[in-house]
Amino acid sequence: MAKQYISMRNLRFLLFDVFNGLELTKLDYYKDHNQDTYDMTLDTAKQISDSLLYPLYEEMDHKKPKYEDGTIKVHPKVREIMETFGEGGWINAPKEFEKGGQQMPYLLFNLSAMVFHAANTAAVAFPYLTAGAANLIDSFGSKELKETYLAHMWAGKWQGTMALTEPQAGSSLTDITSSATPTEHGYYKIKGQKIYISGGDHDGVDNIVHLYLAKIDGAPAGTKGISLFVVPKFRPENGGLVFNNVTTAGAYGKMGIKGAPIAHIMAGEQGDCHGYLVGEPHKGLSYMFRMMNEARIGVGQISAGLASAAYYASLQYANERPQGRPVSNKDVNLPQSLIINHADVKRMLLLQKAVVEGSIALIAQCSLWADIAERTTGEEAENAHLLLELLTPICKSYPAEMGMLSISNGLQVLGGAGFCDDFPLQQHYRDTRINPIYEGTTAIHGMDLLGRKVPMKGGKAVMIFNALVNETILEAQSFDSTKPYADKLAKTQEKLVQITMHLLNVAQTETPEVFLRDATLYLEYFGHFTISWLWLKMSVASAKALAENPQGEEKNFHTSKLHTLRYYFEYELPKTKGIHERLMSADQLTLEVAAEEIV
Ligand SMILES: Cc1cc2nc3c(=O)[nH]c(=O)nc-3n(C[C@H](O)[C@H](O)[C@H](O)COP(=O)(O)OP(=O)(O)OC[C@H]3O[C@@H](n4cnc5c(N)ncnc54)[C@H](O)[C@@H]3O)c2cc1C
Repeated sequence: MAKQYISMRNLRFLLFDVFNGLELTKLDYYKDHNQDTYDMTLDTAKQISDSLLYPLYEEMDHKKPKYEDGTIKVHPKVREIMETFGEGGWINAPKEFEKGGQQMPYLLFNLSAMVFHAANTAAVAFPYLTAGAANLIDSFGSKELKETYLAHMWAGKWQGTMALTEPQAGSSLTDITSSATPTEHGYYKIKGQKIYISGGDHDGVDNIVHLYLAKIDGAPAGTKGISLFVVPKFRPENGGLVFNNVTTAGAYGKMGIKGAPIAHIMAGEQGDCHGYLVGEPHKGLSYMFRMMNEARIGVGQISAGLASAAYYASLQYANERPQGRPVSNKDVNLPQSLIINHADVKRMLLLQKAVVEGSIALIAQCSLWADIAERTTGEEAENAHLLLELLTPICKSYPAEMGMLSISNGLQVLGGAGFCDDFPLQQHYRDTRINPIYEGTTAIHGMDLLGRKVPMKGGKAVMIFNALVNETILEAQSFDSTKPYADKLAKTQEKLVQITMHLLNVAQTETPEVFLRDATLYLEYFGHFTISWLWLKMSVASAKALAENPQGEEKNFHTSKLHTLRYYFEYELPKTKGIHERLMSADQLTLEVAAEEIV
């Protein structure tokens, strides 16, 4: 096992120096927090990760869940993990004190979660899925639903899930067929099947609470007819738990995150299955989107966490592995060089660092906007909400797509050892492959960004975002080390505006198919632009710190940030030139080529 999986120094740098997280404590909701509570939270996350989660990372991959006697049996430590998260208040930390929460800023909550995900993302899938499901009940459920379910879920005793996908309805939820028949008792009878449900059944908790999408009999067709239900595996009745006829057809075998099972579940196949409506009928998808937005930032965290663990494992290897000699002096009498001295290995390590720390910065930025959107009012809250909406597809997709590339490069750093079981890189590589698929594939996020988020409110979110980027450009122009990159970012911004105007013009003059045909590439461009901005923002903070003349590790930390800024602008950002050319082209190959002509 590698010695390191995350940089706590980097998390503190983001929290305190780049995003001024202590400013949040001036808001009434967060007034009980301070430097000490922030430090203690990060330290506790690291301590739990070191002692409980990280030692289980490989073991949970080897001892994968088994389907036996109608139930999925998970690693015995899952129960302890759920209880640790429940007792430690990690599942409901951002909630109000009177609900048992800690009124913890999302910024701090999500940066702490980075530690957990880097240590063992399969292990923390259980509590974080539960947090998302409980949030839905807390936000939209009736008093009775809250009283019945929340305490158990927040204590880590009951697992929460999101049950959307059906065999015929994956990316497009319009086609779900699970049904809900009203009864005179207030509950609905649920019938249907769901596939790939994370945490959908297991023996590490006492109950499973599905947040389940279904259509009430006679509901309007399409997404406007979808409602949200609480469908427990065991329903609380007369002070006990009664089997609710939610059965499990089995656990899927899968290539990664093997410790966290995905289940095929069947509701109401063997008898009455009660479902309890959450909120109003037919509004299920809009409620679910709230959970999905959180979950999408969560996928960014999983991706960045895995890429972080992979980065430190390959960095350690590169510092230990002797191989070859300098190209300029191949004298066999010389000792072999450590591979970290080869330029190409340094390139791969810088790529990894750029993706890992850029992605974590994006997660921090989105979390801060979530805090401002929820805890302030007026224009400030509205603008933060718009920015969060705009960048959620990037926060999900950039770490997911680039995290794969980053881990692949990390594996390459190890050469043959990277492919072998003795090293964790092959596991990181397998574990990360799901990230561009679930919570909406990259294609779906591309269409969301270009088709919905960019045009929303007459392009207001993009305008606010560009103004923010301009502030960073202006600040970066005052330091010699960041000025050249400020100028480059301004040029990339001009190109992005040009592409956006061009595509919005296409939207006016052509069909939606033509407009959205390369939305994935637009997402890629926007992602590189956003991460370049965040590297500039981090580098301004480092340039300020270096002006104070720090020594030793501190000096290396900030110098390394500036090198990585340079890497991003010299190696990654130039890739957007090809995407620019493609997005400005009128060619419609992917619409014109017939299905039977792809042979
Ligand atoms: C490990 C794992 C965990 C999961 N956890 C959950 C969970 O907890 N709850 C849950 O409900 N689901 C879960 N899922 C399901 C997951 O969300 C879906 O697999 C995902 O949304 C994609 O749906 P699909 O598999 O049906 O693929 P499809 O929708 O069939 O997509 C296949 C391909 O076609 C493309 N495509 C589809 N439609 C379009 C379009 N309109 N335009 C362009 N391209 C398109 C996609 O981008 C993709 O490349 C999980 C899946 C896995 C593997």
